[in-house]
Amino acid sequence: MAVPKRRTSKTRKRKRRTHFKLAVPGMVVCDNCGEMKLAHRVCKECGHYNGREVVSKTETPEDAEE
Ligand SMILES: [Zn+2]
Repeated sequence: MAVPKRRTSKTRKRKRRTHFKLAVPGMVVCDNCGEMKLAHRVCKECGHYNGREVVSKTETPEDAEE
């Protein structure tokens, strides 16, 4: 197995980790209800996408299980 010849310095380690960051998900305002939603996805609050209702929100998740 390959073994590192030199220990990684604090500076080198920290420089590598500058690229190591959390990405903010692309959020947009829903045209129907005005809530924040993920872009290019059906709205979680009202079930609308591209100006029409795609997923019915009248039934609760508990009803869907039965
Ligand atoms: Zn919505």
